[in-house]
Parts: sequence; structure tokens; C-alpha cells
Amino acid sequence: MVSAAREQSAPHTPMMQQYLRIKAEHPDMLVFYRMGDFYELFYDDAKRAAKLIDITLTARGKSAGEPIPMAGVPYHAVENYLAKLVRAGESVAICEQVGDPTTSKGPVERRVMRVITPGTLTDEALLDSRAQNLIAAVFRDEQNIGLAWLELSAGRFCVSEPESLVALDAELARLVPAELLVEEGLQESGDLEFRKGTYSLPPWHFEADSARRILCSQFGTRDLSGFGCEQLDHAVCAAGALLQYVQDTQRGHLPHLTGLTVENRSDALLMDAATRRNLELDTSLAGRPEHTLAGILDRCTTPMGSRLLHRWINRPLRDHAILEQRFEALSQLGTSIADELRPELNASGDLERILARIGLGSARPKDLAQLRNALRRVPVIKTILGRTSGDLLGELAVQLGDHTETLERLEAAIIEDPPMLIRDGGVIATGYDAELDELRELSTNANSFLSELEQRERERTGLASLKVGYNRVHGYYIEISKVQSERAPEEYVRRQTLKGAERYITPELKTFEDQVLSARERSLAREKHLYEDLLTSHLAVLEGLQAMAAAVAETDVLLNLAERSQSLDYCRPEFINEPGIHIVKGRHPVVEQVIDEPFIANDLEAGAEHRLLIITGPNMGGKSTYMRQTALIALLAHIGSFVPAQSCTIGPLDRIFTRVGATDDLSGGRSTFMVEMTETANILHNATPESLVLMDEIGRGTSTFDGLSLAWATAHYIGEQVGAFTLFATHYFELTALADEIPATVNLHLDATEHNGKLVFMHAVKDGPANKSYGLQVAALAGVPGPVIEYARGYLAELEQHADAAAPATTPAPFELTPPESAPDAVRAALEALNPDELTPRQALEALYLLKQKLK
Ligand code: ADP
Repeated sequence: MVSAAREQSAPHTPMMQQYLRIKAEHPDMLVFYRMGDFYELFYDDAKRAAKLIDITLTARGKSAGEPIPMAGVPYHAVENYLAKLVRAGESVAICEQVGDPTTSKGPVERRVMRVITPGTLTDEALLDSRAQNLIAAVFRDEQNIGLAWLELSAGRFCVSEPESLVALDAELARLVPAELLVEEGLQESGDLEFRKGTYSLPPWHFEADSARRILCSQFGTRDLSGFGCEQLDHAVCAAGALLQYVQDTQRGHLPHLTGLTVENRSDALLMDAATRRNLELDTSLAGRPEHTLAGILDRCTTPMGSRLLHRWINRPLRDHAILEQRFEALSQLGTSIADELRPELNASGDLERILARIGLGSARPKDLAQLRNALRRVPVIKTILGRTSGDLLGELAVQLGDHTETLERLEAAIIEDPPMLIRDGGVIATGYDAELDELRELSTNANSFLSELEQRERERTGLASLKVGYNRVHGYYIEISKVQSERAPEEYVRRQTLKGAERYITPELKTFEDQVLSARERSLAREKHLYEDLLTSHLAVLEGLQAMAAAVAETDVLLNLAERSQSLDYCRPEFINEPGIHIVKGRHPVVEQVIDEPFIANDLEAGAEHRLLIITGPNMGGKSTYMRQTALIALLAHIGSFVPAQSCTIGPLDRIFTRVGATDDLSGGRSTFMVEMTETANILHNATPESLVLMDEIGRGTSTFDGLSLAWATAHYIGEQVGAFTLFATHYFELTALADEIPATVNLHLDATEHNGKLVFMHAVKDGPANKSYGLQVAALAGVPGPVIEYARGYLAELEQHADAAAPATTPAPFELTPPESAPDAVRAALEALNPDELTPRQALEALYLLKQKLK
């Protein structure tokens, strides 16, 4: 910023001194400094903002003998620029003029009135209504990891303690916080992948005692035992740092944060970052929201329903009892009930965010009108839900609560369709407050007084052109045309001369003006005061209102799932206690919606006798689709939705893993093969006999024999040691031999055939391995000339002869592991200690994983 040398050479102007003082308090944020109708940024802030939001960088005069780099934005358009900046991960401190420019000596007093950070947005204009916006904090020491996250715009505050860095990574991939607070040094340690919006705080922010103190004082409790986190010291430290940060940026109370929820990882069907991405839950591999599971499933009526559904999709539950309740609710919500409920929900709007703004004291008149409209509907929703018999719908009806008093107050206080802002008044209804009514009367009566006065003066003076008017600069006046102005009575005092007329004031009019203007001012002030009181009056009932909003959102999601199940022909899944997945005529929920041809439904049988399914068949045969549909059907069942199948029975499931497609992680600088091996190692480490694993074309990223050996070893290890339900698609035909070797291993295949001279993929899953030379078959079907196919067949036979010699026997070839020069000593030592001759595939993969972790 400003060098010491410059400071010594010439003093800063008083305005710049003020600016620099404010900037020093917000070193990490862009300071928007109000200058009349503009917000201006100076020095480095100006340069950074100019780049980020494409505004012109210029200079504003000089201070301390140097020109001041400056960039500015007009105040009325500021929200657009703010939206762009927070999307880029920037925080902004908005500094307003608070002093009176006419009376102040030197620069007008300015103060930071609003701090905007990417993770703490609550303003409607800056938020995406269908996406949640989170801020998270991580605290980590040698023993443990604590994670806390907060959705300020909903008042949802959660903690967990991920058991490892990999688990933390998976949680962050699920939550996608817009802003992440970490202790200084953590980002640099390389333990955490770099993320946009990461912000380092000094260690004392994470101090345990002060964390407990600030949390207890926020929730008004003596300790944290009521929230079930007394054992979770690390999570509490993260939550404390987070709360402190948010309190600072919001400059005030956060009455809508009333507690902490502990999220246990073991309650959820776990998925790592790669699995989420591969299954295209809410973002396609192309980075878009269309053609994803959420894209097909989300027809929610309210934005808060949409956000809840996305949370469900991203965190499927394992508790069958909860899921059965949801299934039951879906069965209850038939078409006629749905038709009745939908318009009622539609009128609810985004209650969740409105309530957060009420808590923060920033709710607009429209927010209160929307709350009132929603409250009018609550009894109706309650009655409709009361007619159903499901447990869950009954509970939701109770949770909706009774808000008659709040509704009555709002009905009395707010006009039916209030303006955007309280600033210009006209929000509070007549009859709510006697004083306000009286003040308003004074200003409305002004009109009749003025026309009377005009009439009277015109008659008295006999001047036909005389009229009474008002303008903002000069106030009330009597206007007489130039021609007649000579005959103006003596007591008329000239106020303004126009081209064709003269304007005057009289003592009577002046007295009137003082009265009216002050009545208007007082009425506005009174209205503002009443409005603030009205906002505050909601704080006492905020918790009940939040529960009501949550019930409305959940009803919306259930109604949406019921409608989707019906329209898309889904069936109710059944949970059983024996491990296994049994699907009859399953479909891929997204592919079936986007292809033009009819979708071929396929069965799946995974159980004690079918644990490892080796799937072969030509490219484009439908292997990936079949594998992914299995995972998506399992996932849908675990959010409480019906599933695209004729019938579906599922036993206990703890995790879903996928290793799908050969996507290069170019931005991460890792090769395809490294990504593949890292993901594979993760699966081998963490999968259990209750996991569902999808492996697609593993080994593709390296040379044929390496690839084949690794694919072979991985399949072998999963089949022999891990025992997870695994769908293993491969183009290495050799793997089909595993079915004879490993128990509970079966072969499946997909076929192509010729029809009217054209190649047709059947997309039907059949038992047994694919025809060995299906590649040549497909080539023939595709019209490659016969002699070429024959030549290829001969070459293949030759290759296979050589390959037999090098292909892995039942024990795979030992792995060569030479640590690179750059490997840290500890890693080299660890690797050298491994005896390559005795190295198991698992050890080899672990070693690779270790290398990746240390070399990042
Ligand atoms: P593979 O993984 O074997 O290369 P994919 O699963 O990617 O094949 O499928 C290729 C294409 O075939 C898909 O994009 C889809 O259009 C179509 N397809 C796959 N499975 C089916 C099916 N069961 N019914 C109809 N079309 C399908």
C-alpha cells in the first residue's frame, strides 16, 4: 500500500488519512469508500477490483506527493458489483458517510456499515435462491479434526469431527463452502486442497475456552451438553472461531442461531468427492446443473424446498426407519392432496431466508408481507396434512405450530402490498398506531388546505394566473405569471424568479409549510420506529417460526418426490436386513430422460453369491450406464425417494465408491494414472462388505500390461479381501477368469448386434463374459472390410501368444517401486523398507497413495 518513505515525504490529505485509518482495520477486504454518489476504491484495492469486475482504473488527485490509484462504482448499481466480487471469493467492507456534510469540518465522518463476505450473505439480491451458501471452519491438531459450518441465511449451524483428512475432503466436497476459515499455516501445510475463499486466522481464534464461552453466550446456555458436543473439543474450537468471525462481520446479534447440530458421519451413506462428481448428483461432468439427478428430481415449489432436496441428495441417510417414514409419506401424498397443497406451498415463498433477515434486523417490508401471506396459509396446510395418516406428515403438521398472534400483528401492522423500502414510508397500515395516523392526517390534509388557500388568494387578488405549488428545493410557493406579477400583494415575499413567472411565499404559507414538513418528517420517523419494533417483536417467536418454515420445506420436498415418482414411474423400494441389492428392471434416472430411444431396463442381483460382478462388452454397450444406475437407485432409496425400477430390495449399505472414467485432473496437476490410483487406493482402504463399489475401466491410464496387472490385482483384492458389492467394468478380457477363482464372482456382459446392415447396441445385461473378440466383431459390424478384420484376427492371435507369457498368473507380478529423487527421506525410507518380492498389491497401492500425499 503506502510506503513509509512516502508517508515521511509529504503528509496525506485529511481524507486519505481517514481512508487509511479505516483500511487498516480491514486489511484483507476491499474497502468501498462512499464519495457522494459513488463508492471509490484506492491503491491496491482499486487495482484488484478493476481486474475482477472490469471497471476503469484511474487516479484521484495526489496524496503524500503521489497520485492515488482509484476505481469507482455508482452507488445505485453497487449490488451487481458486490455479487460479482463475492462470487470471485472477495470480501467487501462498505464505508458510508455518517456525518452531515454541511456541518462537518474536514472530511465527513465515515464508518463501515456493512461487511460482506462470500460465506455470510443474507441479502436476497446477492444469493442464488436455489443454492445454499455456507461458511465453514476447520480446526486441526495432531490428534483430531474439527469441522463447523453455518448457513447464515437459514440459521443452520452444524459441526462434525471427520476421522481423517480424506474424510474432511469428502465433507468439504459435499458442503462446498463459499468461505473457509482455517488456522494460519494449515493452508500452507498442503494437508488441505486449496480452495477459493479460504481465509487464515491466527491460532487464538480457535482457543477452546473462548470457543465454549462465545457459543454458550450465543445460545444462552451454561454449557454445550444439550447439543451433544461436550466430547467434540475440536469441533467446538472450529465452531467458536466461526461464530466469532460471523459476529464480527455482521456487527451485531444473531438471534436466529439458536443451537448447534452434531452431524455424525456414520449416519450418512458416505461418498467421497470423486464419487459425487462421477455420479453427477447436482453438477454434470460438464459443470452444469442440467442432466443431473437433482436436475431431474427437483420440481420443488419453494426455493427452501429445493435447497433441502439438494441437501438430502448430497447426504443420503442410513437409518431405514427414517427412510420408511418418508416412503410412507410419499404413498400418502396422492394426486388430489398434492393439487390442494401445491398452491398453499407456493404462497409460502422463501420463509427460511426471510426469518434469517428478520433475525439480523435487515428484513424488508416485502419480507414481512411475505411472512404474513405464508402464515395465512399455515392452518390450511395443517388441515390438509391432518387428513393423511402417515407418521411423518402428522409430525410435520404438529411442527407447523400455531402462529395466530404473529399473523394478527402482521395483518394489523403492514399494508397488503408494501413498497420495497421503509425509507419513504407507506408501509405501516392505517389504524395500527394513533400517533402515526395523526401525523399522516396532517400531511394529507395539506392538499385540501392548499386548494382552499389558492381559491381564496385568487379571489382576493383577482389574479387568474395565481396558483399554489411545491418543489423539493424551495418548498411551498404561490406562483403568478410575469404579466400579472406587478399586481402581487405587498405581503408576498419573492422566493424564485422563472422565465414566465414569479414565485412567492407568505407568512401564512410558511407556517403551514413548517407544520407539514415536520409532520411528514415525524411521520416517517415514527413509521421507521414502528417498523423496527415490529421486527424486534418477532425475535421472541423466531424459533417457532423457523420450525414452521422447516416443516413447510420438508412438506414441499415430500410432495415433490411424490409427484416425481408418479410422473416418472418409480417404485417404492424395500429395505431388508441381509446385505445385498436386488433390482428388477432398473433404469438410469437421467439417461432415460435424455435419450430419444426407449431405455432398456436391466436387472441387478448382488448378494451373498454375487459380490463381484465383472462386466465386459463393447464400448458404448451401456456398461457405465448400468453401473451408475445401480448407484443412483441405491442413493435415491437412501434419501427416501422411490426409484426408477419395477422393484428394488436393498440391505444395509454404508458407502458408495466410484472410480469412473479417465478424467484428467489437469487443474490439480495430477496425471490420469495418478488420479486413478489415488481413487483406487482410497477404495481399497475404506470399502467394507456393506459398501457399493463401481470400478470403470481401471488401468486405462497406463501401459497395457501395467494396466492389466493393476486391474487384475485390484479386482482380486476387492473380491478376496474387501468383499464389497462391486461392479467392475473392464476391457481386459483376462479378468473374466476371476469368476472361476474367487468365490461370489460372476461375469455379466452387454452386447451389440447387426440389424439391417447397421450396428445396434442391445443395452441388455446378460450372464457370462462377452464374446472374447467383440472388438473385432464390432469393427465388422461397423463395416470395416472383411480382409482387414481377418488380418486383425491373425495379429491378435500373435499378440495373445506373447501376452500369455507376460500376463499375470494367480499371483501378480511383483511391483517395482523406486521412489523419485524428490521424495522426502521418510518416504524413501518407508519405500525402501518394503521388499518388492513380497509386496502385495494393497501395499503397492498404499505406497503410491502415501507418495501422492507427501509429494503434493
Ligand atoms: P459403455 O460404458 O459401455 O461405453 P455407456 O454406458 O456409456 O456405454 O452407454 C453409451 C450410450 O448408450 C449411452 O449414452 C446411452 O445413450 C446408451 N445406453 C446405455 N444404456 C442404455 C440402456 N439401458 N437403454 C438405452 N440406451 C442406453
